[in-house]
Amino acid sequence: MRLAQLSGRAVWLTDEGAIDVEQATDGGLGPDIQELYEAWDDVLDAAADLDTGHARPYADADLGSPVPCPRQVFAIGLNYRSHAEESGMEIPKVPATFTKFPSSLTGPFDEVVLPNATVDWEVELVAVIGRSADRVSVEDAWSHVAGLTIGQDLSDRTLQFAAAMQFSLGKSYRGFGPMGPVLVTPDEFADPDDLELGCRVNGEIMQQARTSDLVFNIPQLIVELSAILPLWPGDVIFTGTPAGVGVTRQPAQFLEVGDIVESWIEGIGEIRNTMVGP
Ligand code: ZN
Repeated sequence: MRLAQLSGRAVWLTDEGAIDVEQATDGGLGPDIQELYEAWDDVLDAAADLDTGHARPYADADLGSPVPCPRQVFAIGLNYRSHAEESGMEIPKVPATFTKFPSSLTGPFDEVVLPNATVDWEVELVAVIGRSADRVSVEDAWSHVAGLTIGQDLSDRTLQFAAAMQFSLGKSYRGFGPMGPVLVTPDEFADPDDLELGCRVNGEIMQQARTSDLVFNIPQLIVELSAILPLWPGDVIFTGTPAGVGVTRQPAQFLEVGDIVESWIEGIGEIRNTMVGP
């Protein structure tokens, strides 16, 4: 199942086009996509028997984040060996966890205002919680995941490392969390733990890796996080970025006004965000 937000309304995306969730369920579900995660089993049931006669064409530019206002946003640092190495950091023994404040999230094709000259790119696989996860086992973990989507963990390297490090704020300027274009359920992937992901800036490939290289994969992250606090429906986990960010390049490279950041993940699609001036 592929779920998206189209012009502010929850839709299923099919080969035939977009199907409005509220219309297809006679008002039983939707139109608010965030609320759907609270009734995830009902959403799966409804999607199992869709009438594609309701499908209509759509434009990518009208897609918003499939998870626009989660209650909790977890983000994991140094979760690929290649990125820990390029950063000169040790691989953490527990997930290096911070948050992106929810008001920093934005859509898959939105413009992002650059606040300064030290903003960096980080493509990431994002897991979205469907069923509440409280002290779950690794065997059960995937059953708590509604689906996967693409995220960009845009990061201001100056603020991130200021004041004895404040990752959460340095990664939470307005628009610093593009997500989308669609939420894809785990059953749609041959192996949801092994997906290619990558990032291009102005057409040049900067990052390219596989999620099988994650230090803590999605089940392990859910185990570790849910041992400490409950994960709620619609919460998101940015799982970390592989090697190839700008700050570790020689010389360092950062985003500039007019740059186009494209992020892709196998089986999900691609998001494209344009950097603009204040
Ligand atoms: Zn990150």
